[in-house]
Amino acid sequence: MSQLPAEPFTLHGGCDCTAIRYTISAPALEYRPVQSDKHSKGEDVRPPKIFFDHCNKCRRVSGAIVQAWLSCPQEWLEWSVGSTGPLPSEEKVRTWVTTSTKDVVKSVPGASPVANYGSSPGVTRTFCGRCGTNLAYVYAGREETNPTPMIDIVLGSLDTESLEMEGMRPDRHFYWESGVTWVKDLVAEGDKSLVGEKLPRHPDGSRLETC
Ligand SMILES: [Zn+2]
Repeated sequence: MSQLPAEPFTLHGGCDCTAIRYTISAPALEYRPVQSDKHSKGEDVRPPKIFFDHCNKCRRVSGAIVQAWLSCPQEWLEWSVGSTGPLPSEEKVRTWVTTSTKDVVKSVPGASPVANYGSSPGVTRTFCGRCGTNLAYVYAGREETNPTPMIDIVLGSLDTESLEMEGMRPDRHFYWESGVTWVKDLVAEGDKSLVGEKLPRHPDGSRLETC
């Protein structure tokens, strides 16, 4: 289980163009629902769960060689969605409306920056229709085994400050058997064989912090 704080804490994230933002408010540990988990070895498992996911579908939808998720109850999420509808990509969103996960996953195509994709029966994957950032996964069928409606948030969509929070790291691999062999080798061996490239620089010598 992840080692996140037992006290209430808040995480922030969203898409690259800021048309969609979210806040995750986790209550104190005692108020987080105990969940059935075949890997728990008898200990209580409470959200958020943080894990890598090697399944083919998640790799393709995300475009990332390994997907990672933060899974938590939908009711912990509050979304802020740009209220001005689709804008040219160079225009900044200036007004947002607050909404719930339930409404976000029902979003009407073209009516807001929220876009949804049903990748499998009962599965809704949410991303930003302006900038393409993958944001979330909701599986309706999960409610049959888990009474608390859950959502998986794409871990990489969290703000850097939230990703640097104490205890914020995956503690398991899902769909390990589906993973690409050389990726699993890298994960198992660590990064000793990889070169950490230095940040590229602008012509004036300053560092280029992002791609
Ligand atoms: Zn966006």
